[in-house]
Amino acid sequence: MPHSAPNRTETRVDVVIVGAGFAGMYMLHRVRGLGLSARVFEAASGVGGTWYWNRYPGARCDVESMQYSYSFSPELQQEWQWSELFASQPEILRYANHVADRLDLKRDIQFDTRVTDARFDEATHRWEIATDRGDRVSAQYCVMATGCLSTARMPDFPGLASFKGKTYHTGHWPHEGVDLSGQRVGVIGTGSSAIQAIPVMAEQARELVVFQRTPNYSIPSRNGPMTAEYEGSWKSEYEERRAKARTMRGGILYDINEKSALEVAEDERRREYEARWAAGGTAFMAAFSDLAVNKQSNDTAAEFVRERIREIVKDADTAELLAAKDYPIGTKRICVDTHYFETYNRENVSLVDVRKAPIAEITPDGLRTTEAEYQLDTLVFATGFDAMTGSVLKVDIRGRDGQSLRDSWEAGPRTYLGLMTAGFPNLFLITGPGSPSVLSNMIVSIEQHVDWVTDCIEHLGARGLDCIEATVESQDAWVAHVNEVAYGTLYPSANSWYMGANIPGKPRVFMPYIGGVGAYRQKCDEIAANGYTGFELTQPARETAEAAD
Ligand code: FAD
Ligand code: NAP
Repeated sequence: MPHSAPNRTETRVDVVIVGAGFAGMYMLHRVRGLGLSARVFEAASGVGGTWYWNRYPGARCDVESMQYSYSFSPELQQEWQWSELFASQPEILRYANHVADRLDLKRDIQFDTRVTDARFDEATHRWEIATDRGDRVSAQYCVMATGCLSTARMPDFPGLASFKGKTYHTGHWPHEGVDLSGQRVGVIGTGSSAIQAIPVMAEQARELVVFQRTPNYSIPSRNGPMTAEYEGSWKSEYEERRAKARTMRGGILYDINEKSALEVAEDERRREYEARWAAGGTAFMAAFSDLAVNKQSNDTAAEFVRERIREIVKDADTAELLAAKDYPIGTKRICVDTHYFETYNRENVSLVDVRKAPIAEITPDGLRTTEAEYQLDTLVFATGFDAMTGSVLKVDIRGRDGQSLRDSWEAGPRTYLGLMTAGFPNLFLITGPGSPSVLSNMIVSIEQHVDWVTDCIEHLGARGLDCIEATVESQDAWVAHVNEVAYGTLYPSANSWYMGANIPGKPRVFMPYIGGVGAYRQKCDEIAANGYTGFELTQPARETAEAAD
């Protein structure tokens, strides 16, 4: 459906929203519902965020389609039909566009425009926002819906510019697609993106060389076509199931075994893992209640997965290289695949251990490790993202006294509830660091944050207030709580992007809140119900000044 361009002459709005992924789109819808004016800026040429950018072969979600979708509109969730159990990127992008058109969102979204600066004006209590297209907009509230995994990371290998072939990052895949047939392709990285892309690229390429630094645990997805029966079972109980999912730890409905892996006999434990491996997907990690907190329990699950890899991969050395051993399963995000390990049985696929012999340089004809040289036509970087803080900190954000967010987060992000940060009034973060975000079905977390922010804005408006800010004390207490909960688990023992460990020089801080989506929601709701405890709510700046006179 054609959409009209946003009104670019409007320089004062109630709310500026940065980003038009699922978070920004829903935020716009809710803000309009309050009768407020809003302008969305989006760097891409379309909606969908993650699903706009990540078009690599094999890209799909690993949360079931029936759950990885908006729940706020009964009509929307009833009318949309998913074709597979786990939707592919093109289908999710079609869904995002369907929602945008259905809710007529695009008329308030300015595409191909990156927000570069945001400054809080203490005299007016407004944010002054600037873009790379020369826009200057003033807004009472600024909502950063910039995404947790939206700043692709390219390692700085020497010689990269000299490469004669083509290079691609999975997070910036060309829209017209890439024909890999007849090519010698090198893939750097073996995270979720690579694990999805490798089996598909192996079918096209003449030769595929995978450069692996750290192996990952991966569970088969058992994806398949959506059946009318399965879809019907969800749609007939959608409201109840969604309501239940919101209370769950990961915002996903699945069967959680409340037993410890150590309290059951060996054969029962094995049966549980086998059933979950056969069923597929991330529910494997719910096989026992203590896999994330007890190393001995975790070892039983990790060893089960390593055994499966040794069974699937015919070459014993390759199997051993693919079997993760030096961190607990689930402490780096668990991967979900379709025939990933099987792909290493193909004649045209080989695995190179770049932990043992690191990549020394990219050469004009390929890549050289400290041990060998590889001739390649195409290089695929599946090297991940500057997660959780990357996109927020790319914007030069200045709060009270001109204080910069980059400076204030120099030692790692500090927020209250992952929603706001002290010194930056009226700046909301959707799925910010300190919230469960990336440890959840993200659409559930996005909806929860957007609903909370909308209620908050409404609360302020109804009371003639125009400013909300997290206090330093509440923020300190929240950061301490986030850390305490994280360090009670095995998560911090892995060099993961949750810890900022994938970015050289990034502070090592466990960024997401691991206390669970359901419990976190309850906390946020209580805080709001009690009049926004831990936040300072103030009157319009002029009235405050008059009251002081
Ligand atoms: P995004 O979708 O990242 O959108 C943010 C948008 O903000 C982007 O379009 C970006 O261009 C824009 N932006 C950023 N900075 C600026 C700026 N300064 N100015 C203008 N625009 C800006 N989550 C799950 O729950 N399940 C999954 O299976 C799953 N699979 C994933 C697969 C991949 C390949 C990746 C990368 C992530 C996956 N995720 C998954 C996480 C996914 O990011 C979220 O589910 C969700 O799509 C995030 O939506 P968002 O709107 O918060 O952010
Ligand atoms: P990632 O998990 O961070 O993986 C990046 C990979 O690149 C890692 O294997 C990393 O190795 C490697 N790497 C980085 N720099 C390197 C270097 N200099 N030399 C050699 N190897 C290097 O990134 P991702 O795969 O894009 O996934 C990011 C997140 O996006 C996921 O965790 C998930 O949350 C989401 N995602 C989800 C899905 C899905 O299944 N739905 C799909 C894709 C992405 P090290 O581990 O050694 O650092």
